[in-house]
Amino acid sequence: FDMFVLAFIERFFRPIYKKDDVVLGKKLGEGSFGSVYRVSLARKPSSMPADLVLKKATEYGAVEIWMNERVRRACANSCADFLYGFRETSSKKGAEYWLLWRFEGEATLADLMQSREFPYNVESLILREVQDMPKGLDRENRIILTIMRQLLFALDGLHSTGIVHRDIKPQNIIFSEGSRAFKIIDLGAAADLRVGINYIPKEFLLDPRYAAPEQYIMSTQTPSAPSAPVATALSPVLWQLNLPDRFDIYSVGLIFLQMAFPGLRSDNSLIQFNRQLKRCDYDLVSWRQSVEPRAGPELRKGFELLDLDGGIGWELLTSMVRFKARQRISAKTALAHPYFDREGLLALSFIQ
Ligand code: ADP
Ligand code: MG
Repeated sequence: FDMFVLAFIERFFRPIYKKDDVVLGKKLGEGSFGSVYRVSLARKPSSMPADLVLKKATEYGAVEIWMNERVRRACANSCADFLYGFRETSSKKGAEYWLLWRFEGEATLADLMQSREFPYNVESLILREVQDMPKGLDRENRIILTIMRQLLFALDGLHSTGIVHRDIKPQNIIFSEGSRAFKIIDLGAAADLRVGINYIPKEFLLDPRYAAPEQYIMSTQTPSAPSAPVATALSPVLWQLNLPDRFDIYSVGLIFLQMAFPGLRSDNSLIQFNRQLKRCDYDLVSWRQSVEPRAGPELRKGFELLDLDGGIGWELLTSMVRFKARQRISAKTALAHPYFDREGLLALSFIQ
């Protein structure tokens, strides 16, 4: 109940914007469910950021507004700052939903990973002290580890709120220049299980490059698309039974893999990897056995990086990319993994 009162008060005091207040800038993205622009406001109150992002969405936008409102109240640091969403009816195409966020920065993780300099191009963005350490695996591992910690932290926020993102990929991770951290964007395919919004959009919404092998995150008995938020006391139970959050963990595991293996960063090589992994029944260890003997330098480099410190990185990767959802590690447990604790891991290798 409190949440709805809070939502009402927030909505009441927040300035209301209309279509005419928005000055369109560069187009940032175009999908089958909407277009995204960089925009500014014609009459900008001092409390509003100058640089904004606008998404003009189809009917799916209603769910996306719901998700963003909820994120802002429950785990604001996980996602891009959401400012306002409204229904726009004057369009000739019929009703649209317009969503406004703070413009967080120029680069997504996909943009940064495309550079030959990756991960060094991220180092000065997220690490306070850039060490005199020579370039090499240890230094790369430290940067990748920091990115992974930020991704898992953001994901843990969403999952603790009861939201599964379902479209985690480098294109949906923005580097926030203000927070000097990566944040999640694009809640267009997300599901909120605790309040009964578990709308399952068309399957083709899921990006096959990063999707876990399970097609549906919930059993087929799960009700679909309630038109209004309906509280269901059963949701936490369903969550425990189905572990839908592990769908995102698989995707973030694939991002970890791509960061470690330069040769798997392109779309084509990721698609090829997915085929190979499927042939190995989604068992990373047998995939490794099949490719390592004839691995080129780029693959070898990835294994070397993950094998540092007694293979603690490889251990984390294999606990994320698994066929069975319930065998995958949760975001919260992953954050406590010894991979992220270099002191603890020194002690560990000492014991071994
Ligand atoms: P789509 O449904 O088209 O995938 P997204 O929400 O992923 O929509 O946004 C498309 C692109 O717009 C992103 O990949 C990113 O480059 C950019 N973008 C989205 N939100 C922001 C933001 N808050 N700040 C900066 N850029 C953003
Ligand atoms: Mg997107």
